[in-house]
Amino acid sequence: MFSELKPLPTDPILGLMAAYKQDTNPNKIDLGVGVYKDEQGDTPVLRAVKKAEAFRLENEKTKSYIGLAGNLDFCHKMESLLLGEHGTLLANRVRTAQTPGGTGALRVAAEFIKRCNTNATVWVTTPTWANHISLFEAAGLQVKEYPYYDYENKGLLFDEMINALKQVPKGDVVLLHACCHNPSGMDLNAEQWKVVAELAKEVGFTPLIDIAYQGFGASLDQDAYGLRLLADAVDELIICSSCSKNFGLYRERVGACTLISKDAATADISNSVLLSVVRSIYSMPPAHGADIVNTILSSTELTQMWHEELDEMRSRINGLRTLIKDSLAAKGVAQDFSFIDKQNGMFSFLGINKEQIDRLQKDYGIYIVGSSRVNVAGISQANIDYFANAVADVLK
Ligand code: PMP
Repeated sequence: MFSELKPLPTDPILGLMAAYKQDTNPNKIDLGVGVYKDEQGDTPVLRAVKKAEAFRLENEKTKSYIGLAGNLDFCHKMESLLLGEHGTLLANRVRTAQTPGGTGALRVAAEFIKRCNTNATVWVTTPTWANHISLFEAAGLQVKEYPYYDYENKGLLFDEMINALKQVPKGDVVLLHACCHNPSGMDLNAEQWKVVAELAKEVGFTPLIDIAYQGFGASLDQDAYGLRLLADAVDELIICSSCSKNFGLYRERVGACTLISKDAATADISNSVLLSVVRSIYSMPPAHGADIVNTILSSTELTQMWHEELDEMRSRINGLRTLIKDSLAAKGVAQDFSFIDKQNGMFSFLGINKEQIDRLQKDYGIYIVGSSRVNVAGISQANIDYFANAVADVLK
């Protein structure tokens, strides 16, 4: 049976990581993989997480199964984090299942959508996080794209986006990135979110919000602005969240799939279907990471510590955006890179071509994915000059 299989290409980012590891250039820089890095290039365990883990080690009483929805205290904490005060108003319409990471949340959401409407199409931004497309297709859903990033002007194709969304049939799902759009870093502003929320109500599609970077853009609350607006505007909403980035819990696989239904009775039915989906994929989520998040959010002291650490990460990213813009300008690069400072989160497209990307890798050991997406957090005070010189050289 196995001999019938044809080999599949490796994921380009994983390939890039392997090539980076083998590179012996002492000045090499990894701007490919999508994890936060500090000034030393490390992705450390947050202090609040370490404290919560120490507490858990002492106090954990059993390794028996948790339920299908995971840790219910964690689920409620996530609802508050996502919805803020709106969470209390909407409480009887909201149901959450803890999932293995944001990817798990998306896969559960995909299977849930399939159960709601076998013929549903999921509309995603052009471009989007590459895994979105494979995830939804793997669940047997159709995926179509709507215009989003303006490669030429480094902004949004907002009018084109709205025109496309007006044509989306009722019963389809529109995926929106809550903040820190991956891969472009280009987010909707408050006015644009209002237009989208109105449109969702008018057209009748179901919005699915992917929020994988809450707190990495402007603040925990501001990054959830669009999500909360939609939660108020529409009858039905799907939210897929991740604690990988904002809690630095990547490998512990912590996320959640939250459903907002039109009333409490529908919410119970939706929840029963959601849990049946969970049962047939992985039965129950892993306990450790969600317990850490719950411990942090249950303690004023640890929450405060986490907020400080999150602020640190966000300030560093935003500072690096300004630094990249200024350093490239200082090297006399003709192209305008001021857009980098206006975008959010870890990612932006440099907007350079394949040949220039290859030269950065070959001549300088600077690793960037083929789309020219860079992880801003890979830059530091120590390597910015080397990076800016290299970019200036390949753009000459
Ligand atoms: N959505 C987006 C847009 C992402 O960038 C990511 C992580 N790269 C995820 C979801 C999933 O994150 P995880 O499964 O690691 O929690």
